[in-house]
Amino acid sequence: MNANYLQTPIVYLKGVGPNRAETLQMELGIRTYQDLINLFPNRYLDKTQYYKINQLQRNSSEVQIIGKIINIKTVEQKNGKRLVATFIDDTGQMELVWFRGQKWIRENLKLNTPYVLFGKTNFYGGNFSMPHPEMELLVEHEQGLKIFMQPIYPSTEKLSNKGITNKVISKLIQQIFIDIKGKFTEALSPKIINELHLISKSEAMFNIHFPKNQELLAKAQFRLKFEELFYVQMQLIAKNMLHKQRIKGFPFDKVGTIFNKFYSESLPFELTNAQKRVLKEIRADLGSNAQMNRLLQGDVGSGKTIVALMAMLLAIDNGFQACLMAPTEILANQHYIGIQELLGDIGINVALLTGSVKKSARKIIHEQLESGELHILIGTHALLEDKVQYKNLGLAIVDEQHRFGVAQRSKLWHKNDIPPHVLVMTATPIPRTLAMSLYGDLDISVIDELPPGRKPIKTVHRYDSNRLKVFQFIREEIKKGRQIYVVYPLIQESEALDYKDLMDGYESIARDFPLPDYQISIVHGQMKPEDKDYEMQRFVKGETNIMVATTVIEVGVNVPNASVMIIESAERFGLSQLHQLRGRVGRGADQSFCILMTGHKLSSEAKTRLQTMVQTNDGFEIAEVDLKLRGPGDLMGTQQSGMLNLKIADIVRDNDILKTARYYAIQLLKDDPTLQKEENSAINYTYSQLIKHKNIWKYIS
Ligand code: ADP
Ligand code: MG
Repeated sequence: MNANYLQTPIVYLKGVGPNRAETLQMELGIRTYQDLINLFPNRYLDKTQYYKINQLQRNSSEVQIIGKIINIKTVEQKNGKRLVATFIDDTGQMELVWFRGQKWIRENLKLNTPYVLFGKTNFYGGNFSMPHPEMELLVEHEQGLKIFMQPIYPSTEKLSNKGITNKVISKLIQQIFIDIKGKFTEALSPKIINELHLISKSEAMFNIHFPKNQELLAKAQFRLKFEELFYVQMQLIAKNMLHKQRIKGFPFDKVGTIFNKFYSESLPFELTNAQKRVLKEIRADLGSNAQMNRLLQGDVGSGKTIVALMAMLLAIDNGFQACLMAPTEILANQHYIGIQELLGDIGINVALLTGSVKKSARKIIHEQLESGELHILIGTHALLEDKVQYKNLGLAIVDEQHRFGVAQRSKLWHKNDIPPHVLVMTATPIPRTLAMSLYGDLDISVIDELPPGRKPIKTVHRYDSNRLKVFQFIREEIKKGRQIYVVYPLIQESEALDYKDLMDGYESIARDFPLPDYQISIVHGQMKPEDKDYEMQRFVKGETNIMVATTVIEVGVNVPNASVMIIESAERFGLSQLHQLRGRVGRGADQSFCILMTGHKLSSEAKTRLQTMVQTNDGFEIAEVDLKLRGPGDLMGTQQSGMLNLKIADIVRDNDILKTARYYAIQLLKDDPTLQKEENSAINYTYSQLIKHKNIWKYIS
């Protein structure tokens, strides 16, 4: 009954009107009554406690004090007037201070009358003071509605400038509660409510806005977070199931001669257990009647390529073609060369298609692709062009998937009437928690083990004051024949300064490592491409000992003999970038090192980043920390996700609730895929409302 009422545009709510409606929409995205009651408080102020002045602590949060004002005066200062009152209780005294609205306050405040005041205290020169306290006469306070916890709603400067204060928002929400008599349609099934001991929707809504006590607040938060995550998961899982039912794939039912021949004769190493497990998962998908839609995660160097290749061989064994798309020409080239080497003379035709392939060569590729003569096509975005038509594309693999948009991926699909199986691979570890929400409609495989024999990179943190020791270490490594990277940050906003740092650093290194004993390369963004290339090549060929560079070396460079990575001003890099940079070393047989250089002044977040790097080489662990530090908004891929718009839950902090919600969503959809059972009617109703109001199919196609 209240569903329609809640869809009413906010402008019609008593106390809103066109002006405020516009501000509410612009600032908080609130269009309807429903949006407003789903605006949840960021935090709550505890109003159950009264403090005495002699109990006040420095750095305390908001406090509530009973006392009276004994005098009030205006104090003139260089930077303007302020109003100062002396406030006392039976234990001491403090000051109240106003900078704004002084006239009104002076005229309305009563001296020697008991007040309850509320606010945050400052401690200065041995005294406590409270700027702009909230004040209420004690008599009124005692008569009024008892508020235990005062909700604090999200706010913006514009909102407060337009007079839409916290109090106003709270009043508006109260208005809606009064209109619907506090009754909200239940959105979960009795089974879920019972099993998880949840409070009802109405009770939860009331206590989130007007908590009766801490315990009920906690229950309200749990219930609403669960509900929110549950419906996100419902959408993702329903989509995944629909996929499997409706979207037929080509069954690759046999493991044929090519795969077996490759496995027994050409495989240059034993697969790791993780690779074997992932290959099994992929084979199970390919053998079923449903179209595969799988994400393969694995840190840099974990060996995703061989898994991709073997999946492609399965496609070929079953009479299909396969393609592999990479985000850059360098990567596509690497794959092409690497895969041809692996295949040897096994009799598979592979071609490379990138932007720089000549027209004539392109034409041949197009023809061979259409005739079926070509088995595997490797390339860049060029693969997506309309001219590229296959005889029968059975498997499409996308490397470094985060660099491609959703639209690009779905384009690959539509190369056939029946979509090919899709495997997307990423080396940018996405924390499992995030992956589950972002890609809940993809199946996920993880290679969580590196091939044997790799020596973990030793990482240390050194202060700039220890530079001489670091230089000494470099000298020793160079004596052993190793090469060294020294990387400087280049952050757009401070480009000129960063450039100066780089040149200063280069000069100081050149002084300590003079010609002719030492050769140094330098590479940065302001150089001409051919100069860059020349310097790069000198380092690759081993003609120079040290490479001084900005982060341009992050992609594409592979110098196995380089065993030391020095990162200057390491505190300025993000975790994932530090991890990527470190990945440039540790590619040869020698022990590799990563030295993180910083000054002494470090924020606590920077300290955490450095510690994390020193403690672990595990990209997933690093990604988890990164997610905790930065929140999901900054991570790539989140734009594609419904998880960005979460109103109350937080996928990092509420990870356990997320898991529970996912579990319940899976159970429910297994048991009642169309939500027709009577006991699930509340869920059916809520779910259909949800997908009516937003197009959920657009997330990942
Ligand atoms: P990534 O997952 O970063 O794409 P690659 O597939 O490029 O990693 O593999 C990195 C290196 O490890 C390659 O040189 C590859 O030949 C090698 N490799 C892969 N799997 C194994 C394995 N099971 N044993 C030994 N070396 C392996
Ligand atoms: Mg790779």
